Amino acid sequence: MGSKKNHVNVSKVGIIGAGISGIAAAKQLAHYRPVVFEATDSIGGVWKHCSFSSTKLQTPRCDYEFSDYPWPDRDNSTFPSHFEILDYLHGYATHFDVLKYVKFNSKVVEVGYLGEPAETLPLPPRDYGNLLRGHSVWEVAVQTHQPDTTVQWYAFEFLVVCIGKYGDIPKLPIFPPNRGQEIFGGKVLHSIDYSKLDTEAARQLVKGKKRRAISKFIETYLVWKLPLVKYGLKPDHPFEEDYASCQMAILPENFFVEAEKGRILFKRASQWWFWSRGIEFEDSTRLEADVVLLATGYDGSKKLKALLPEPFCSLIQDSNSGIMPLYRGTIHPLIPNIAFVGYIESVSNLHSAELRCKWLARLADGHFKLPTIHKMLQQTTKEIEVMKRTTRFYKRHCISTFSINHSDEICEEMGWKSWRKKNWLLEAFSPYNSQDYQEDK
Ligand SMILES: Cc1cc2nc3c(=O)[nH]c(=O)nc-3n(C[C@H](O)[C@H](O)[C@H](O)COP(=O)(O)OP(=O)(O)OC[C@H]3O[C@@H](n4cnc5c(N)ncnc54)[C@H](O)[C@@H]3O)c2cc1C
Repeated sequence: MGSKKNHVNVSKVGIIGAGISGIAAAKQLAHYRPVVFEATDSIGGVWKHCSFSSTKLQTPRCDYEFSDYPWPDRDNSTFPSHFEILDYLHGYATHFDVLKYVKFNSKVVEVGYLGEPAETLPLPPRDYGNLLRGHSVWEVAVQTHQPDTTVQWYAFEFLVVCIGKYGDIPKLPIFPPNRGQEIFGGKVLHSIDYSKLDTEAARQLVKGKKRRAISKFIETYLVWKLPLVKYGLKPDHPFEEDYASCQMAILPENFFVEAEKGRILFKRASQWWFWSRGIEFEDSTRLEADVVLLATGYDGSKKLKALLPEPFCSLIQDSNSGIMPLYRGTIHPLIPNIAFVGYIESVSNLHSAELRCKWLARLADGHFKLPTIHKMLQQTTKEIEVMKRTTRFYKRHCISTFSINHSDEICEEMGWKSWRKKNWLLEAFSPYNSQDYQEDK
């Protein structure tokens, strides 16, 4: 396609985002001296920008661990706070000297395609080709504000997109006409705004207010020992579906203690809207509120679509399922020379991201080849079907029910043994964790 822009060509590999996924990618691709563009002034992504003071990891720390960088206190059974996760990530990035690749306060505002137009056709009967082609395939526009706002274009052979599924773009409810937040006299904010408040500002927000409403009605805290029935929180779907869609959550401290005191009230409703003094539910009951906090999640695919050019942004999600068809959770068969890390969910997203970055690095190094585009599409279609069969929440793109299978296939493709334990007894009876995926096993 070509481009008349003045590109900076500093590396073959560009990485967008410096959360867990971007840092994992930078470490595994360090031999290419990648450039990592990070929109903010720090690494850590959601753990820095979408966390409340009480936010903790929901995964045991020994599972949310890089294979070659153990947590200092890995046997500690408590769940680390988001501050501890940031410290751990910082320790990892410093230990492996990857911070030098990160350009902070550098937001990628546009991505352009420089490759062959033929490769943009929907179903070409061809191979995907090498990740490194010997010429630039993507250009990215990077906005900085130091001291003035400028945009600089960079060109890369291979791009790794790690901009995260959460954060940045809130998913907001759609209300019937004249029933949106404009008619409400109180304050409405999304959890992303709330997470940006410091402790004092958060305290001031509710100080002196008579009422608060938390609008995450369909929250399914599926720990059956808890009084879910008592509080009308028992979901209608089976527990397995939550596991299969990575929707199991650890409760905040004192959650049901506060509920017992009547300081947290619950209301199940699939539809609700605003009235002047609060919110109204589909059963016509009303709740008065001063502050409505929308804990309604994020729109990760919107973020991606806003960045990628046509025709690729229309291909991002499978038109039937809405899932991103990612081979090995990483390569979109129809989008050349680009990888997406951090888009599939599992019990430990850090482990998923790290293993896939190892796979990517070996693919870029030419240790193995990808199957044909047709075969990759067959594989992704099969996985989407499994997800659709297992849970109605398949759009979350969670592989928890077959993540070991996925890891086995990734290992085999990389030329590693898929049985990672020292002997068959351990293989049969001990659980897998990140450290089983160190290279020298
Ligand atoms: C509250 C919360 C709790 C969670 N708990 C768990 C858990 O217990 N276990 C688990 O496995 N997972 C958990 N997750 C999922 C979590 O998102 C992943 O574990 C992981 O941290 C995601 O990392 P990431 O790098 O893919 O994305 P992010 O952390 O979102 O990082 C993306 C980075 O890209 C940057 N960026 C975005 N757009 C641009 C752009 N245009 N240009 C440049 N930079 C850009 C962002 O600033 C950010 O730094 C949780 C998520 C949240 C929000």
